[in-house]
Amino acid sequence: MKLLLHTCCAPCSVQCVETLRAGDIRPDLFWYNPNIHPYTEYRSRRDTLVKFAGDEGLTLNLEDEYGLRSFIAGVYGVNESGGGRSRCAYCYRTRLEKTAAFAAEHGYEYFSTTLLISPYQKHDLVRGIGEEAAARYGVQFFYRDFRPGFRAGQKQARERGLYMQKYCGCIFSEEERYLNNG
Ligand code: SF4
Repeated sequence: MKLLLHTCCAPCSVQCVETLRAGDIRPDLFWYNPNIHPYTEYRSRRDTLVKFAGDEGLTLNLEDEYGLRSFIAGVYGVNESGGGRSRCAYCYRTRLEKTAAFAAEHGYEYFSTTLLISPYQKHDLVRGIGEEAAARYGVQFFYRDFRPGFRAGQKQARERGLYMQKYCGCIFSEEERYLNNG
C-alpha cells in the first residue's frame, strides 16, 4: 500500500517511516510547513529532511513555501481569541488540507502525518482535522498512534546526526519556549 506522509521534520519521520515500512506500507514524504519560522530554522529542518529522504531512498514531494506572513495573518484573529489551541487548529488544518489535496491530485488513497508521533502535539485535534481534510478531498486519513515510538525515534535521529529542533515551529512557540526560560 502506498501512502502520502506529511512530514513536519526528519527526527519525527524516522520512527513513523520505520513503523509504516514494517507494516508493508510504502510512505512517500510530503513537506509543507509554512508554520516554521524564522527562515534559518525553516531551512535547517527542510534540508535535514531532504538528506534523510535521500539516505532512506524515499520519494520526497517538496511544497517549498516559507509562509511567515500568510501564517501570521491566518492565525492572528484566532490567536487573539482562542490562544494556542485555535492557533494550532489553524496550523494543522493548513498543512493537512494541503496534504489531502496533494494526495487526491496524485492518486494516493491514503495520507497521514508525522504530527501523530509527537507527545507535544494536540493528538486528538490532529486526528480530527486529518479526518475532516480527508472527507473534504475524497481520500482516507490513515490514523496511527505513533507516540510509543517517539523516544526511540528521537534517539535514533540524534545518533544519525540529524538536526534537532528546540521548539514546535511558529514564532509564537519559539517565544513560549524561551521567554522566561533562558
Ligand atoms: S505551536 Fe506548533 S502546532 Fe501550534 S501553531 Fe505553532 S507551529 Fe503550529
